Amino acid sequence: MEPLYIRVHPDDNVAIIVNPEGVPSGARFPNGFVSSEAIPQSHKIALAEMEPGDPVIRYGQVIGHATRALPIGSWVREDCLDLPVPPALSELALATAPPPAAPPLPEYTFEGYRNADGTYGTKNILGITTTVQCVAPTVDYAVRKIKAEILPRYPNVDDVVAVTHSYGCGVAIDAPGAAVPIRSIRNLALHPNFGADPLVVSLGCEKLQPVRLTIPGLQPADHVIRLQDNQGFAATVARICEAAEKRLQVLNLRKRVPCPASGLVVGLQCGGSDAFSGVTCNPAVGYAADLLVRAGATVMFSEVTEVRDAVHLLTPRCSTPDVARALIREMQWYDDYLATGRADRSANPTPGNKRGGLSNVVEKALGSVAKSGTSALRQVTTHGEVPTERGLIFAATPASDFICGTQQLAAHMNMHIFTTGEGTPYGLAMAPVIKVSSRTALAEKWPDLIDIDAGRIATGNATIESVGWELFHLIRDVASGRKQTWADHWGLHNYLAPFNPGPVT
Ligand code: CA
Repeated sequence: MEPLYIRVHPDDNVAIIVNPEGVPSGARFPNGFVSSEAIPQSHKIALAEMEPGDPVIRYGQVIGHATRALPIGSWVREDCLDLPVPPALSELALATAPPPAAPPLPEYTFEGYRNADGTYGTKNILGITTTVQCVAPTVDYAVRKIKAEILPRYPNVDDVVAVTHSYGCGVAIDAPGAAVPIRSIRNLALHPNFGADPLVVSLGCEKLQPVRLTIPGLQPADHVIRLQDNQGFAATVARICEAAEKRLQVLNLRKRVPCPASGLVVGLQCGGSDAFSGVTCNPAVGYAADLLVRAGATVMFSEVTEVRDAVHLLTPRCSTPDVARALIREMQWYDDYLATGRADRSANPTPGNKRGGLSNVVEKALGSVAKSGTSALRQVTTHGEVPTERGLIFAATPASDFICGTQQLAAHMNMHIFTTGEGTPYGLAMAPVIKVSSRTALAEKWPDLIDIDAGRIATGNATIESVGWELFHLIRDVASGRKQTWADHWGLHNYLAPFNPGPVT
């Protein structure tokens, strides 16, 4: 393979090395440009001479300032640039340039489950909610028994999932931060992929009493099993199994039917990102996001610390000034939250991100927001809240993969698209997770974990548009149960991890 780099924007003074083995010193690129030192794959090469203090530009945006002189053709490493100050939240343009709606794509549907409340399911799951971690092993024991002995008699039911978590007791339950995990667990319990009467397992003495979950129609006598009211472990498990079987009978009668694409709520996330993420997988996901929005679906992107440094690109795209103000409010809330822990958004990037060529959180954020495509931003929801609008939504969550995934489930995502550069086997039981790699090398290393290889965009073997359409069709196939993701094939389902910004006692 001849030496190759990718420049994203005509104003950029750095580009990304494509070659899997990197390039040696003196490598000559097809346009005659020559590297002045060895540079690894996905790391940045200086396309112009830079003096100390000069802006380093990628995606047409300043990602930092040179900390020393950078000769042309040199390797622009993490320590070659400083971190710019984040955009001031008081000086942002509010809904000044909302993009007009693109032509609708009304012909696309999927085969899903219709719920009485107007929502749609992509899986047919029995969910068992827990109020406190104390009961989790008991419920897990019961779920293993249900799956082995009862579920095989109900072939139309996909799975039995225990909504377990580390919350519920030993917490300041009335402190302001407690509203986030309580709302999140409540909305997890009401997820559209759960179809039967609620089933809640409680310990009895915990702080998060079932009534605090405010689940509509919850009748404590019928829907709640309180362990401290039961005689012995085996009898308790038998009671959970009996309650589960009643609901499996109901769930087994459900059938997949044609559903409008507006029933899809697609959550976007990235994890283990590298410098390719912003040029291959994330723009392809952005293209698919635009298609989904045109088809009437809801698309949610999240991860506050990965949006913070690109917020000036998003507030003009909001459909109204109120939406823009809500976005700013979520950024401010997270700035304050990090400050309480004596951290800031610079704490976000991981060693893997840096190994993958991402110098700082600004570069990471600019690549991350490419997932949102080009539609107008129609609503901003706070942590664990369910959106009421369709189209492109920002659902505030932390960037941590498993917390973000849990919070997007709480926001009622029924399909999840996960982009990755370094790779992760991540998956969720409650909704299918399609994993998209930023580089072909990762897809080749993990052919039985990565669902779509977007690295072909970097090597010229595919385009952003072609991978975007491929992803759009795969989303509909997986949502319809016609295709299975690798995470579901292997049963790789991460533990739920609701966000708890409140105090633990
Ligand atoms: Ca993440």
